[in-house]
Amino acid sequence: MNQPACRLCSCLLFVMVLLAPASLKAETAEFSWLKDRDATLSIDEARALPERRWQAFDPEHVLNLGFSDGSVWLKVDVPPEPENRLLEIGYPLLDDVSVFWVVKDDIVQEYRTGDRRVFNSRPVPHRHFAFLVPSNTETVTAYVRVKTQGSVQIPVRIVPSAQFLAEEHLSYGWQAVFLGIMLAMALYNFFVFLIVRHPTYLWYVLTVLAAAMVWLNFNGLLFQWLWPDMPILNRYFTAPIISLNIAFASLFTMSFLSLQRVSPLAFRLFQGVVVVAVFTFLFGLFGPYQASTVIVSAFGAFVTPLAWFVGLWVWRQGQVLAGFYVLAWTPLLLGHLVLAVSKLGYLPSTFATDFAPQFGVALEVILLSFALAYRINLERYRRQIAQDHALAVQRQATQTLETRVQERTEELERANEQLKAISLTDGLTQVANRRRFDEMLAVEWSRACRQGHPLSLLMLDIDHFKQVNDQLGHLVGDDCLVSVARLCAREIQRSGDLLARYGGEEFSVLLPVTPEQGARRVAERLRKIVAENPVYPNDGVRPVNLTVSIGVATITPTNSTGPEALIQRADEALYQAKESGRNRVVEWLSSSVCSDPAPEKPGQSR
Ligand code: GH3
Ligand code: MG
Ligand code: MG
Repeated sequence: MNQPACRLCSCLLFVMVLLAPASLKAETAEFSWLKDRDATLSIDEARALPERRWQAFDPEHVLNLGFSDGSVWLKVDVPPEPENRLLEIGYPLLDDVSVFWVVKDDIVQEYRTGDRRVFNSRPVPHRHFAFLVPSNTETVTAYVRVKTQGSVQIPVRIVPSAQFLAEEHLSYGWQAVFLGIMLAMALYNFFVFLIVRHPTYLWYVLTVLAAAMVWLNFNGLLFQWLWPDMPILNRYFTAPIISLNIAFASLFTMSFLSLQRVSPLAFRLFQGVVVVAVFTFLFGLFGPYQASTVIVSAFGAFVTPLAWFVGLWVWRQGQVLAGFYVLAWTPLLLGHLVLAVSKLGYLPSTFATDFAPQFGVALEVILLSFALAYRINLERYRRQIAQDHALAVQRQATQTLETRVQERTEELERANEQLKAISLTDGLTQVANRRRFDEMLAVEWSRACRQGHPLSLLMLDIDHFKQVNDQLGHLVGDDCLVSVARLCAREIQRSGDLLARYGGEEFSVLLPVTPEQGARRVAERLRKIVAENPVYPNDGVRPVNLTVSIGVATITPTNSTGPEALIQRADEALYQAKESGRNRVVEWLSSSVCSDPAPEKPGQSR
């Protein structure tokens, strides 16, 4: 047969094994069993028992007797057939398996094996217990005595050697695939753990390794591969490794689903599960084998659906990763369910039903590995969002800070301007003060000098003001000063002109680009308006009539003179005004001769 044809045949055979295993079994053999409660029957006593003590059973359904202290006897009558056959007991965890082949009332072969004896005690070196049917020509009877402290499951069959071999290839191949998946996932996620250092990955790796060992142990492969000469280890392995698997899976669940944050109740529940798992681990090592196996089986049957329900609940709370978890846990649960149903006899026991939980575990491991990879993506996305948020907050803070700084700067500028204005304003009359006047005089003097314009100055003094103070008091005097300033300010409107309080009851008016006539006119207007408007003091006493005397000076400045000359001339003119009787305007007549600062007699305009 060529190779593709061979492959096709193997595939077909496998499908047939999966779908219709019963059809390939040697159906002619008859199976019966009995229970020896005290485990005292010898082979001869068993053979001597009447036929009615034996109970027939259908080997298609696994003989499953739960946990039992006694021993179980099987009797298998195997009719002759031309092809070589094997008697196979397909559950490797049986402690003590003895097989006696009887041909024509003689025991022709006997074997004592089991997982409490070295692997070499098996006539066929196989993970299951397999015994060659000793004759093809005569009916032979196998008496099989099984004694075990673990679960008494005895999947027994008579199978042609060629079929056994063909099935073995496939089943071994699937075990290798299972182991390969488990190792690959464990290794890959171990490397991820080394990089990301998140405990979830470590719990995953340990869960996967423990699960792989649980199933390889169930299949008898660990014993065959790792410690064939130390059967004592078998007694200490099953319950502790299942406990470890439960503990690691619980720690993984807590970490992967962030149970502490999402559901403190579920978190505490799983903490409890871990504590119990530690207990069953120790109990498996130091307690009685049977009790520990019973406890750990019940515990596993409780925790597996519990994890699924918790995953479902967390998923419904809106956690995306929990969806993956439930998806991954479902095949595992289903696989175990299929196995349990087949063990209970509701499904025929086939390779498919036996392999279902391992298939579920492998699928779970793959899906969870995908979920863990997705988790990295999710974390990156969350980190990105957090970074963006932090950046936005920082940007906002900077912007707020900048706005505040700008506001403060503006406030400061306003305050400065106010301060400057205050420092340049006379507190009583609110017109410019002497400092401002001096500054502006210097500025205007230079400008007039540069541009060759005339600059005029009025010096204004209230007449007999001392009397006002003396007779009406200083407060009325202050009111008068305010009123005179206000009256004058109303008249001095042209931009560039400046009214200032020069000192005491004296005011000065600076008139840039103003020749003598203009200055005189302004002075006259001021004199008139003060004289015509009596002041009404705030205290309601009678109105006060005031007059002012004004000295006027005009100079077209040059570099050879300073602004003092202008003040001096205006002062002199004012003095003349006072001398000439007050309430008048006197002009410094020779002011046009600015290049010659020599004083001349002032003239009077009134
Ligand atoms: P004249 O100028 O007409 O020669 O007479 P006068 O009475 O005004 O003379 P003088 O310049 O000597 O007096 C100025 C007076 O002005 C002295 C003071 O009582 C008064 N005075 C100066 N500053 C203020 C002020 O800020 N408030 C008040 N109420 N009075 C002031
Ligand atoms: Mg005066
Ligand atoms: Mg005066």
